[in-house]
Amino acid sequence: RPRVLSGIQPTAGSFHLGNYLGAVRQWVALQEAHDAFYCVVDLHAITVEQNPKELRQNTRVSAAQLLALGIDPDRATLFVQSHVPEHAQLGWVMQCLTGFGEASRMTQFKDKSARQEQSVGVGLFTYPILQAADILLYQAHYVPVGEDQRQHLELTRDLATRFNSRHGKTFRLPEAYIVKDTAKIFDLQDPTAKMSKSVPGGVVELLEDPKRSAKKIRSAVTDTGREIIFDVENKPGVSNLLTIYSALTGRTVESLVVDYDGKGYGDLKKDLGEVFTEWVAPVQERVRMYLDDVASLDKILARGAERAREVASVTLRRTYDKIGFVLPE
Ligand code: ATP
Ligand code: MG
Repeated sequence: RPRVLSGIQPTAGSFHLGNYLGAVRQWVALQEAHDAFYCVVDLHAITVEQNPKELRQNTRVSAAQLLALGIDPDRATLFVQSHVPEHAQLGWVMQCLTGFGEASRMTQFKDKSARQEQSVGVGLFTYPILQAADILLYQAHYVPVGEDQRQHLELTRDLATRFNSRHGKTFRLPEAYIVKDTAKIFDLQDPTAKMSKSVPGGVVELLEDPKRSAKKIRSAVTDTGREIIFDVENKPGVSNLLTIYSALTGRTVESLVVDYDGKGYGDLKKDLGEVFTEWVAPVQERVRMYLDDVASLDKILARGAERAREVASVTLRRTYDKIGFVLPE
């Protein structure tokens, strides 16, 4: 079975709609026919300052959300990144392989560092390199992510290619698995920017009061004109709402456009608010259930980490050997 690997940051307690539609929904689908590894990437979260108590809580809340959204820990390997020390270990190897200029070209660093109010840590700069290690450790065939991660995937492939050509075939070259329709969900207040955990604005959070989400959807920025049509260039706001509506209901955008012919933006937004509220209620219920029993949740994560290490330790050992490290007995 082809291998898949992906991760999500516990930087905020709640995932947002972009995380679900761009990534986690694909994770759930892929676990059926693939050997799937999914992790809560807490090492990545500390690239910006974290409150320790919140980080611990957010890590569990993230795992609970993955389970509530449909990740099955008997089929997929679900774990916390810091439980598997090989990530940091291979991360160092990858850093030594990366050119400074190459790392400087990562556009997400430019965006995120420009927004940072505190001083920017080196970890924020090198985070795509650690991400490369996350993926390469598992010899993943596919990496289900949103469009914003495409450049990091390219870096991962470049590093794998470089190591392989220096030392002989060691890493599989992973491919991005990006579902075009939902690859980028936009902020409801600024439909030209991606919905993001670290940028407050029109972000629909899965764990907030659904009434609040419905209100955010009702007050989403739409466009001039009044026609409900799908046109990303000229009507990014309406198109974003149609994308979300379609993804949550399984109805095609075309059929929605036909249905809303003659109706106004207000109708579309009100209905989408209801669609979301109905979809999210059982998800929130299941999250609560997992968080009510932290001992069982931690046990699931411990089991996942053990399975992950079985794979990761083999890759790391082989890598160390190729580099010329004296392997410990
Ligand atoms: P941050 O802003 O802190 O980086 P994030 O919202 O980008 O947070 P991540 O944990 O970095 O969340 O990303 C988890 C997954 O969600 C990744 O695969 C990413 O590509 C995907 N993703 C994030 N935002 C969106 C979005 N707006 N549309 C589609 N996919 C998204
Ligand atoms: Mg991100």
